[in-house]
Amino acid sequence: MVGQSTSIQSFFSTRTSPTKDIPPKSSPVPGDGFTAEELDNALLPVRQDNWTPRGVYDEYEIDALMFGLNRVKIVGRLVNMFESSHTTKLPKGLGGSVHLVVKDDTGAVTIRLSYTLPPTELRLGRLVAVWATYVANGDRGSFPCAVAPLYIKVFPEKDKSCRIRVLEGAEFANLCRKPLNYQPTLMSLKAFAHGGSEVIDAKILVIVKSVSARKRVTKKDGAEAYVTRVVLMDDTDEATLSLWDTTSTTPNDWQPSHTALLISSPSLNVSHKNWLALASDTFVDVDPCIPEAERLRGFAGRKVKREHINPTFPYEEYALWSIIKPNERVLYSLADVDDRARETPGETFEGYLSMIIMDLNMTTLRQQNMLMCNECCGIPIYANAKVAKCKHCDSQVSLRVNPRLIGKLVDESGCITSGKLVLSDHAWTRLLGRSAQELIESSASTLKSVEHRMLHIRITLRFWWSEEVGKLVISEVLE
Ligand SMILES: [Zn+2]
Repeated sequence: MVGQSTSIQSFFSTRTSPTKDIPPKSSPVPGDGFTAEELDNALLPVRQDNWTPRGVYDEYEIDALMFGLNRVKIVGRLVNMFESSHTTKLPKGLGGSVHLVVKDDTGAVTIRLSYTLPPTELRLGRLVAVWATYVANGDRGSFPCAVAPLYIKVFPEKDKSCRIRVLEGAEFANLCRKPLNYQPTLMSLKAFAHGGSEVIDAKILVIVKSVSARKRVTKKDGAEAYVTRVVLMDDTDEATLSLWDTTSTTPNDWQPSHTALLISSPSLNVSHKNWLALASDTFVDVDPCIPEAERLRGFAGRKVKREHINPTFPYEEYALWSIIKPNERVLYSLADVDDRARETPGETFEGYLSMIIMDLNMTTLRQQNMLMCNECCGIPIYANAKVAKCKHCDSQVSLRVNPRLIGKLVDESGCITSGKLVLSDHAWTRLLGRSAQELIESSASTLKSVEHRMLHIRITLRFWWSEEVGKLVISEVLE
């Protein structure tokens, strides 16, 4: 809370709670305090990787690989991963096998990795180095990945002459990010969902908008599987990508509204609108090095900011403005603000509004456990607490007063509907006559009477308009 003004505060006793930043006991945080990643790490034994190649391995670009080559090393990014068919009988002692499609800037190859312990470190988009002793031709029989027919078998836990290793570090960050056969004529999400998925080798470029928590689900055939659902966006539409089992931990590496994915030939679930999944011939280029990705990232950033359920008060921008602002105090009507913002776009200005509170949602939001809110991983989080845990990344997220607490404000020229204002913490305290902590601790009957007291009264607000923020910012609430 910022410093509280005396004029309103003097009417209310200030209570300071020793447990100010701890959620109240009424909203228990489920779980045992360990994150999913910590559990994975603890449950799976740590594998020491002190392997060094014995003998000489020639390093190849992938398109130079040929059937029959011996002792090769390749470096590329994982663009697809899928489990080998469950119907194939596994040899004794084998935990399973997974097909990895590895791509560099020249071509792609399939790696069949057999393991006794599942390889949790492999995720789509990660750079890997593979040392192998033989390149096989996958044309024969029913080999699953037609787009990368040459394949390499590795079973590092059994065969000490082969290895697969994830390469991490800044020196590897820009390697192998060029998409194969790239044409800047990409399909939009909307076009893809409306018939475009029928086109062979259709490519879509999208930005990760949000990531769900990884869930264990029972499939139609009774088998249990992990799934993580990722909401994707471009400038035309949104879609949901389901990542199953081996790929379900991949989104832990992705950053909402930043990570770009160039997806070639994804499958579209016809029974759901815009539900995508990976097929065996799908390629996922994570953060591809193409100018279009940068443009779309900018678009997504602006859109997500605009749609944020509770944008942060622009303290820094407002402080900078306060240094240069003209020394004037002008009372505006809502219509005046609207006219000025439209007539001189890009202009920043400040003034006062005299408004009447027509509607308040305090008791409803309290009942719905939604008094406070914020977003994390692109997912909205609501609670009657100052801190809540993000279901995806498990981090503790601090919450601010839900802007929908104010239902509707009117003046003689117009109205502002729910959720359209950005208030500073100080302005909230002045408006409600209580701090966020006191708001959470208030009983339903107290909030009801506060609502009654505040309804239909006239308040004066100091507002600030800046096109950058795109919402009316309230820096002060006066009598
Ligand atoms: Zn999160």
